[in-house]
Amino acid sequence: MAEALPVAPTAGPAAGPKQRLFFALWPDAAVANCLDAAAAAAHAACGGRRMRGDSLHLTLAFLGEVPADRADAAESAAASAAAELVGVTFQLRLNRLGYWRHNRILWAGTDSESAPLLALVDKLAAHLRDAGFALESRRFAAHVTLLRDAQCQDLPGLNAPIEWPVSDFVLAESQLSARGARYRVRHRWSLRTMPA
Ligand code: ATP
Ligand code: MG
Repeated sequence: MAEALPVAPTAGPAAGPKQRLFFALWPDAAVANCLDAAAAAAHAACGGRRMRGDSLHLTLAFLGEVPADRADAAESAAASAAAELVGVTFQLRLNRLGYWRHNRILWAGTDSESAPLLALVDKLAAHLRDAGFALESRRFAAHVTLLRDAQCQDLPGLNAPIEWPVSDFVLAESQLSARGARYRVRHRWSLRTMPA
């Protein structure tokens, strides 16, 4: 009988370094300050852990752990989406807080859908799926996480709507640690001009 050969490591799906990637709207300092103020007010009512002011964002598409050599494909897909959306800048109005009991997240969001935001999400998802990325089929729920581990009996309101002028989106990398996730913006695509 032939002797079994030792099994060599293969370049399977688990091989090589990975990066935890997601696409997001990343607020400028003025919008981040408004979100941070809303987080402070909500924290007074619900407790929990506030997100760092420079970490506040609205996730558009979550890729999860991506092999490092697939990051370029994600960036190309985003560039294609951005190219098809040139000129589609929009104003996002966050006018409500919400609370998810199952994961104890308190978030800022909208009580009416934003058509241009959904168009951006759909376009990005379509190009990412074409490039072979598996995205969640769960319906997109636009939200900015403000508090984690919150305990809300009565949901606080927002003092005033937060007006967010959206003219770009980013690819961010998440680094998880015992002290929580830290994010790094890797690339930004403008919705004003064609990608370089
Ligand atoms: P932690 O996982 O340590 O609590 P986090 O959720 O902020 O921190 P990530 O899990 O890396 O960090 O997620 C990055 C972003 O993607 C966050 O906005 C998160 O809400 C969102 N996200 C994470 N998992 C999913 C998912 N399965 N579907 C959609 N969005 C997700
Ligand atoms: Mg997470």
